[in-house]
Order: sequence, then C-alpha cells, then structure tokens
Amino acid sequence: MKKGLLVIISGPAGSGKGTIVKRVRELAPFDFSVSATTRKPRQGEEEGVHYYFVTKEDFEKKIAEGEMLEYAQYVGNYYGTPKKPVEKALAEGKNIILDIEVKGALQVKEKMPEAVMIYVLPPDYETLLARIRGRGTETEDVIQKRMTEARTEIKTFPKYDYVVINRENGIDEAANDVLAILHAETMRTSRNAEIPETFFS
Ligand code: 5GP
Repeated sequence: MKKGLLVIISGPAGSGKGTIVKRVRELAPFDFSVSATTRKPRQGEEEGVHYYFVTKEDFEKKIAEGEMLEYAQYVGNYYGTPKKPVEKALAEGKNIILDIEVKGALQVKEKMPEAVMIYVLPPDYETLLARIRGRGTETEDVIQKRMTEARTEIKTFPKYDYVVINRENGIDEAANDVLAILHAETMRTSRNAEIPETFFS
C-alpha cells in the first residue's frame, strides 16, 4: 500500500491556518494530528479534538519516553506531536496534517524528508495583527509575544516547500491552493517510484 501524505502547515498566529486546515478536511480525506500542549484550553476547545491538554510534568514524561515525533516551546508552553498516530496513519495509507510551529516542523522534516511543508501567511502584517486582535482569545501581552515569535519564525520561510496566502474572505481559495499542492505532490516521481517496475508487468 502506498504511504499517505504527511503535510505540515505552519504560519503565524492569526494567519488563519487552523481555519484553512478545517476547510481542507471538509473537502478531502485528511487525518489531523492532535497535539499535546501545556497551554490552557481556550473557550470551545475540546480535549482530544483540538489538543491533549497536559501538565508540564506529563509532557516532559512523554518526551523522556520517546513518545513525541517533535516538540517545541512556544510563548511559554510546550507543544508536541504524538508519534504513534502519525506513523499509524501513514502506514495505513492515510494522509495526515500537522498544524505546528516552525521549530517542530524542521524536526519532522529532518526525520521524514518526504513531508510536504506549507507556510500560510495573510497578505500583510496589518492584516495579521488585526486578525489576531479580532480573534479576542489572547491578552495584549500574549499577542505581542506571538507577534515577536512571528518575526523570528519567518526567517525559516525558505525551508518550506510552498507558501499559501490567506486573502480577505479567502479561506476557500487558500484551501483549494493547499489541495492543488497536495494533488501535485501525489504525482511526484519519487512517490511513484514503483512505476518503472510495474508498468511492463
Ligand atoms: P495555539 O496556542 O494558537 O493553538 O498554537 C500556537 C502555535 O503552536 C501554533 O503556531 C501552532 O501551529 C503550534 N503548535 C500546535 N501544535 C503543535 C505541535 O504539536 N508541535 C509544535 N511544534 N507546534 C505546535
């Protein structure tokens, strides 16, 4: 069976990547990797759906026991991807999306170079700031820290394979851009390496 696609989506807080991932998953069969975090749940976030909300001690135990595919600290909290569900999905031929920040994304790419890395950005910085403020889920202090993080994160931009711009009212367009990228990815010769063997048989 052919392995599924491992897709990494990153982008600054307020880029809209979460909404794009949701839309992509409505349009095509993609599993979502539920991360573990030490951050407190936001209103409406459910355990095991949006995140596994764990204590710092639990998180550090998972790291020590080798349960994490990758992990990173982001604005004072740990975030990480449990390894088993990702490996299982790919082995079963399922596609899986990871919504993770850049330090973790680079760890995954190192271990699994076939991962497709997509960076999501709004059209400009003002839009980014307006979106994160409009979301109203963070204090001004946390917003400032996330914006500082965004400036550092963007230095990793060239390591990503693709960039998708999330324009005003552009969720559908951005989701279709992601799907177009992933569609093309399935046609890479490297993902179809068996063809020269099987074609004539
Ligand atoms: P938020 O607190 O807004 O849900 O997420 C903050 C940042 O952490 C986002 O950039 C998100 O993509 C990232 N993130 C979420 N889960 C993971 C994870 O498992 N690993 C890493 N490295 N980053 C994550």
